[in-house]
Amino acid sequence: MFEKMDKNYVLPTYARNYVNFVKGNNATLFDSEGKSYIDFTAGIGVVSVGHANPLVSEVICEQVKRITHISNLYMIEPQAKLAQKLVTLSGYDMQVFFANSGAEANEGALKIARKYGEINGEPKRYKVITLEHSFHGRTISTLKATGQSSMHNYFGPFPDGFAYAPDIDAIEAMIDDHTVAVMIELIQGEGGVEPQDKAKVQALAKMLKEKDVLLIVDEVQTGIYRTGEIFASNLYEIEPDLITVAKGLGGGVPIGAVMSAKKEVLQAGDHGSTYGGNYLVTAAANKVLDILEEEKNSGALDAIMIAFESRLEKFSQQYPDIVMESVGLGLMRGLRIKESDTLAKIINDAFDEGLLLLKAGRNTLRFLPPLTLSKEEMEDGFEKLHRVFDRL
Ligand SMILES: *Cc1c(COP(=O)(O)O)cnc(C)c1O
Repeated sequence: MFEKMDKNYVLPTYARNYVNFVKGNNATLFDSEGKSYIDFTAGIGVVSVGHANPLVSEVICEQVKRITHISNLYMIEPQAKLAQKLVTLSGYDMQVFFANSGAEANEGALKIARKYGEINGEPKRYKVITLEHSFHGRTISTLKATGQSSMHNYFGPFPDGFAYAPDIDAIEAMIDDHTVAVMIELIQGEGGVEPQDKAKVQALAKMLKEKDVLLIVDEVQTGIYRTGEIFASNLYEIEPDLITVAKGLGGGVPIGAVMSAKKEVLQAGDHGSTYGGNYLVTAAANKVLDILEEEKNSGALDAIMIAFESRLEKFSQQYPDIVMESVGLGLMRGLRIKESDTLAKIINDAFDEGLLLLKAGRNTLRFLPPLTLSKEEMEDGFEKLHRVFDRL
């Protein structure tokens, strides 16, 4: 295998599992030994329409045979179509900037917020409040925006102007003359599959609007039908000023986007990306959205979400000594495990059993399956999980 090559030449930034996946089909993966796995991770919420989706692969092949990239100096038809689709499906009066990842989408949102704060009134406003246990990315400023002090040990000095609220209730008292925005995840993903309370989020949105403080919703993980609606913001029935998206949008191609209701803030030259929204990624993302819109309209998406939720709930009740509760929304789900040591063991044993699972926060077993997960794959996955839990 190429394990040695990987160890010799790739920087060791990941605690990797040295498996060699060679093929996928929806929520099923096959390694080089021919062993099959049920994938409840979807590449961390990315492969929203499943591995090797035939419709998406066909669109990608057709697109790259014609044109892959030209830069943003010229119009890009699939980019304009994708922007229109995102705006129309969301129902929000917004425009879109395309980036290449979640962190980059958040960088873009922070830049829009900072400029908004500079050009709107005195004193200039630049501070952004985020939540403790949040996750917003790995670049210098999105790392600083991330409310986990353990991630701020190195890499300083960081940009000024970030403050962390312990919860939504604490935000209002932290707003001062320099505050320009609040950035939140509606369900904290990396932080532990932690949905916010709908009424509290709605009250927050209203309060921020009154104070002209921007609401940035980081939907990098919750966006693109992960919670059952195109955006969790739609589910929470709020109107954010800025929404950031990435993971599920491209179905595997690297794409991120900032959607902004403040359309006039950035002018030509203020922001940009060489790759952002090129033919390859926007052609793929258009197809991903078409597929998911169809899944939503046909009722298939709601059906698998309801089935998964009740299956997980039933599962959690069968192991009261191990599981505290089942949490989450849509196909962004978790089981709170009593002992964090047990959690690591569950993930390892599940892997041996042929089931891929994620960790979130300190003690959450996280499920982010493809949104096209079949009932058979779901059952297969839970049978494997039973075998793991029965042995604990
Ligand atoms: C994954 C994630 C990010 C970072 O996305 P990258 O594509 O890894 O840069 C930012 N915010 C949230 C909520 C995420 O889940």
